[in-house]
Amino acid sequence: MGLFSKSIRKLGPMGGYRFARQICRNQPRILMYHRFSDLPVKGWASPEFFEQQVRYIREHYNPYSLVGLMKYLREHGRMPSHAVVITVDDGYRDFYEHAFPILQRHGVPATLFVTTGFIERRLWLWPDKITWILDQITHIDREFTIGSLTVKVGALDGGLRNQLWKQWIAHALSLPDEDKHEFITALASELGLSFPNEIPKAFAPLNWVELKELQAGGIEIGGHTVTHPSLGRVTEARARDEIFGCRDALNQHVGQRERTFCYPNGQPSDFQHFLPELVREAGFLGAVTAFPDSQGINDPYLMRRHASGDNMFQFHKAVSGFELLGHRVKGDRRLEPGSSAA
Ligand SMILES: [Zn+2]
Repeated sequence: MGLFSKSIRKLGPMGGYRFARQICRNQPRILMYHRFSDLPVKGWASPEFFEQQVRYIREHYNPYSLVGLMKYLREHGRMPSHAVVITVDDGYRDFYEHAFPILQRHGVPATLFVTTGFIERRLWLWPDKITWILDQITHIDREFTIGSLTVKVGALDGGLRNQLWKQWIAHALSLPDEDKHEFITALASELGLSFPNEIPKAFAPLNWVELKELQAGGIEIGGHTVTHPSLGRVTEARARDEIFGCRDALNQHVGQRERTFCYPNGQPSDFQHFLPELVREAGFLGAVTAFPDSQGINDPYLMRRHASGDNMFQFHKAVSGFELLGHRVKGDRRLEPGSSAA
């Protein structure tokens, strides 16, 4: 009673959030983060805003790692009430620098999904190569065509840069995985660039020692494949290698643990019907998408996530369940039940 009325007082100005929080109390929300920076970058979480969010979650919700949530479900046969999970994708080093100290300070667990080939520095995350290319150039001096994509002459102001980034990422995502890498290599070569051998600092991964330290500090180290392909664009054999290979690398380098999994890119087009079963067979206790809809966490191998970051409005919409309720009211369903074997 005391705690709840205190919450109401604090949430008072936020209208429907209080209502959503009560209605959705048995539907944990899984929040999704990617990058952290103390310089402002659109969509990235600054330490200042992240700390506000973590403190808010600590005061108003029950924070779990995703594997912690799945274990609770296994032990109790139901979800804990008012549960919220913070998840962070990919395994960039900025998590260690900016987010981990904040989570530690507030005693809040989280799940970090890592791409193991990236941790081993065998590859960059491919979207970063596109970002890097665009960072190197100020003009496109001549028109060129790669496959079905034509790149026109232009000066790279913020608008065009952003437009090309979206267009090139979308084009890459539309291709089978090997063609995607060829496309990115061709882009660089058309623009007279060659990628540095070392991953640039801005795109650098954590290492295994740091991951072990994170794990010891209450962070679940979850799976996110070996090379971060869209699993909607690979054969079943390749998907198996990506999922099992990632699990094996994690077990080898940070120790055998129960874990959860995150589908790279995580949009409806990044799925195939056999994936949930493969992920379960590999021993992962659950898996997440990168979009929300009306289904919430109904399917343990296709649990939906809500974007968070620097926008406190979006954070409150996501954490309170307001966004989930909105999707439920509209009946949004972005993946058909047949997509899942779970
Ligand atoms: Zn990712």
